[in-house]
Amino acid sequence: MKQLAKLLTAGLACISGSLMAAQPDFSEVEIIPHQLSDNIYYLQGQGGNIGVSVGDDGVFIVDDQFAPLSEKILDALEGLSDEPLRFVLNTHHHPDHVGGNANMAETGAVIIAHENVRTILSNGFTGGDLSKSLTDEQKLGLPIVTFNDTVNLHLNGDSIHVFHVGPGHTGGDSFVYFMEDNIIHTGDVFRTTSYPRVDAGSGGSFHGIVASYERLLEVSNADTRFLPGHGVVSSQADVREQLQMFYTIHNRVQDAIRGGMTLEQIMSANLTTEYDDRWGDPTGILPVIYNELIGLVH
Ligand SMILES: [Zn+2]
Repeated sequence: MKQLAKLLTAGLACISGSLMAAQPDFSEVEIIPHQLSDNIYYLQGQGGNIGVSVGDDGVFIVDDQFAPLSEKILDALEGLSDEPLRFVLNTHHHPDHVGGNANMAETGAVIIAHENVRTILSNGFTGGDLSKSLTDEQKLGLPIVTFNDTVNLHLNGDSIHVFHVGPGHTGGDSFVYFMEDNIIHTGDVFRTTSYPRVDAGSGGSFHGIVASYERLLEVSNADTRFLPGHGVVSSQADVREQLQMFYTIHNRVQDAIRGGMTLEQIMSANLTTEYDDRWGDPTGILPVIYNELIGLVH
C-alpha cells in the first residue's frame, strides 16, 4: 500500500512537475517566430507554443506563456504585424499558457477561454476560498469572454473555430481550428514531447484525451497541420499513430487489471516497452489509466 501511495505520488509529482517546471531564468529565453501560412505563425519561447493570426483585423494569439516573457512576446508580434493585439485565446489554465494574460489585457486585448478556465483561475488563486479576493493583476488576467462548447472568430480572412470536446488534458481544453489555413492549435491535449499529461485534479481524463483525438481525426483531413502545445507541427498520421498507441496501452492495462494485477505490478510489467524510447517515462500516465479503469473493469 505504501508502494502504491508512492507510485501515485510519483504520478502526481510528474503532473505538477510539468506544470511547475517553469521558473527558469526567463532573461535567456528567445521568442522565435515560425511562419505556417500567409497570416498564421507560431511563437516558440518557454511554455506552450503561441499560435498567431495577423492581418488587417488585428492580431489574435492562442496562449501567452509566462508573464516575464510578455514584453518579448509583444515585441515578436510587432515584428509580424503593425496591427494591435486584439484577442488572446487560452487553450487551458496552466501557467505556461496563461501567465501573460494580465499583461496582454493591459494592452487592451480581450481574453477568451472555456468557462472552466475562468472558474479554475478564479478558484485557484483563492484556493477555492471565495472570501479571499483576487489581486487586481489576477483579476485582469481572467478571461472575460467565456464559452462552453464553441465560439467562432471571423478575423483576417479566416474563420477561426474554437471548440471544446470534453475532459482531456484538463477540464477546460479548447482546440483552435484556423479553417482557411487548415491548421489546428491543440493546446496540450495533443503533444509530441511525451506521453499524454492528464491533470486529473483539474478535470482532465485519459479517456477524454482518447475521445479528443478521435474528434480531431473526424474534423480534420490529410492536409491538416496540428500545432501542439508542446512539440512540433504534425500531421493527421501523427495524431492517428499516437491514438493507436493509446488504444494499445489502454487495452494492456485493462487486461492486466482483469488478470488481477495491482498498480505496482502494472507499473513494473513493461507494458509500454516499445514506446518508451520515443515517448519517455510512462510512470505519469499509467496510474491515470489504471485509476480511470479500476472502477470500470469487471
Ligand atoms: Zn498544460
